[in-house]
Amino acid sequence: MVVTSKRSTTKATSFNQRDDSSSVALVHVEQPQALSAVAPIVSSYNEKIRPVLDALENLRRLNVAKEGIQLPTIVVVGDQSSGKSSVLESLAGISLPRGQGICTRVPLVMRLQNHPVPHPELLLEFNGKTVFTDEANVSDAINLATEEIAGSAKGISNTPLTLVVKKNGVPDLTMVDLPGITRVPVHGQPDNIYDQIKDIIMEYITPEESIILNVLSATVDFTTCESIRMSQTVDRTGLRTLAVVTKADKSPEGLLEKVTADDVNIGLGYVCVRNRIGEESYEEARDEEQKLFESHSLLSKIDKSIVGIPVLAQKLVQVQAMIISKTLPEIIKKINEKLASNATELENLPANLSSVADAMTAFMHILGLTRDSLKKILLTGDFEEYPEDNHMHCTARLVEMLNLYANDLENCDESDAKKNFLMEEIKVLEEAKWIGLPNFMPRTAFLTILQRKVKGISYMPINFVDNVWDYLESVVISVLNNHSSSYYQLQVSTRRAGEKLIAKKKKNSIQHVLEAVEMEKLTDYTCNPEYLLEYGRLVAQQESFIKEVLNTEPKPTHVKLEGVGEIDVVNLRNYPHVLSQAFDLKARMIAYWKIVLRRLIDSIALHLMLSINELINNDLQKEICNDLLSSNGGGIERLLEESPSISGKREKLSRSVKVLRESKETVTRIMDRIGIYD
Ligand code: GDP
Ligand code: MG
Repeated sequence: MVVTSKRSTTKATSFNQRDDSSSVALVHVEQPQALSAVAPIVSSYNEKIRPVLDALENLRRLNVAKEGIQLPTIVVVGDQSSGKSSVLESLAGISLPRGQGICTRVPLVMRLQNHPVPHPELLLEFNGKTVFTDEANVSDAINLATEEIAGSAKGISNTPLTLVVKKNGVPDLTMVDLPGITRVPVHGQPDNIYDQIKDIIMEYITPEESIILNVLSATVDFTTCESIRMSQTVDRTGLRTLAVVTKADKSPEGLLEKVTADDVNIGLGYVCVRNRIGEESYEEARDEEQKLFESHSLLSKIDKSIVGIPVLAQKLVQVQAMIISKTLPEIIKKINEKLASNATELENLPANLSSVADAMTAFMHILGLTRDSLKKILLTGDFEEYPEDNHMHCTARLVEMLNLYANDLENCDESDAKKNFLMEEIKVLEEAKWIGLPNFMPRTAFLTILQRKVKGISYMPINFVDNVWDYLESVVISVLNNHSSSYYQLQVSTRRAGEKLIAKKKKNSIQHVLEAVEMEKLTDYTCNPEYLLEYGRLVAQQESFIKEVLNTEPKPTHVKLEGVGEIDVVNLRNYPHVLSQAFDLKARMIAYWKIVLRRLIDSIALHLMLSINELINNDLQKEICNDLLSSNGGGIERLLEESPSISGKREKLSRSVKVLRESKETVTRIMDRIGIYD
């Protein structure tokens, strides 16, 4: 049979016809009427819609959805056993898997193409392959493919399976059949099957570009249908929802009222159908359907423009053309935008090094940049490169660390002159007794106390340099990373060199500190006049202090000493014979300890600054060159290898740009053919 049967009033469209100001002029059709019963279900504008569908199919195959571009799609939804597969069968004239429970377990993209071929051609596309089949075996082939995608159990998957049906007399339609909604998992199904199915359905029906074909069984109350509830959440007013009412034969009572009342907001209208039952042929089924709606006492009252599979086919073709016209300009716009932004991003990726000379230049450049940055943040205090990052404001942070260290030294027990005043001195003096004149100060007593005190604080300068180098390591590595971020291998190599160098420098500083501590322990010396001044100030109070401790009545518990504070003197009365010598010893120690602390602060600060200077001006470059040219560095050639993240990004962008270019060509070709205007 032919395209336009006498009873069909559908008109072919002129492609130049305009309907609204922003869309592609694709179709203009009048309200469809029932086609003659045995006529193949064909639409009269197959020839015009085909290239557009081909183009969309191309886009689908290019997976433009991955680029965030949604394609217009007719999505078939419905509760389980509402008759979704049967409707698709009726439209395609083939057998789909039908049965108890859940049969459709993956999205099935069904592409119907009207072809004047003597024998229908059927093929399945999934997981990147194509499987040819025929009418007799399509059901099994779909089941096999489903098992391959979603496993042999009853689970579901959202990886689509495409079924292409080229057949004489089918409408040119592309639809997606989705798993039916089921509340209760059957044996072998995961507990969250409802949520899984819901997720897939929502993914397909949420985009504005989707038309929802809601399959409802005449035997149920539409308001209780789960699929209606779902589609209403994304299409409240039903503007993009079309309802197919199946099983009209089973439940003819009240069907007319149900579709007229439209309790569930179906914007695109209802079509009532009767699908193939049992072993009927498709022709028999269409015959039976036509007879049913013509002669049944109740069903015959329903307007002929909303009954029968041919009407459904025609309506779908129109809706499909409408949605494509509406969305195509937007798709083209999106493809262009995406293409432009991805191409720019690709261009802006760091250059890939391709020769040793390039690599050498990049290497020297990075060394230079690193040295400049480190000089600024560590030596001159210029933070323009890191205005917001306080961690990298190194000159200030180093002073803070130094102050903290000095503070700790000054406030530790060893520096507390008041604590156990004179008791340590007395004990040491008792042990340093020797036969000789009483007013000679035994030097060993002074050195013993000094060594004990220095030993007590020696961990502090060590901790301090340890902390400083940890901090410097984080700074140096961060600067190196920043400058070498485009060159993965260089980043790896410089990081390794940086860590190695800092470890060496830290060891060297600790050595320096240990030496400084050792020196303080070995001998007592200073040329600083502060020492004598301080000693003089204290020793001037010696006589009055001892007098107050020993002779004042009533005996005081505390005595004030200028420059030291209130002193607890109760115990001191037990040692009147050494008190004077102990006081002298203490006065020397207080004056000298200040000198020792200052030396431990100043000399270490100066040492660190020297060490940092050397690091920036010499050591770092040397270490990095050494690492790169050593056996595990792999030489300068190694730098030619790109970082996995950059090359991954480059690959992804190139792929995306390629896909978008192809997509653009695809749509441009069809737009040229069908004409578009602003
Ligand atoms: P799906 O789960 O939504 O895909 O539903 P199916 O297409 O598998 O149909 C479920 C059952 O309803 C099958 O046994 C079909 O034969 C039956 N069925 C579907 N449509 C009709 C119809 O219009 N009339 C009658 N009597 N049975 C139908
Ligand atoms: Mg099904």
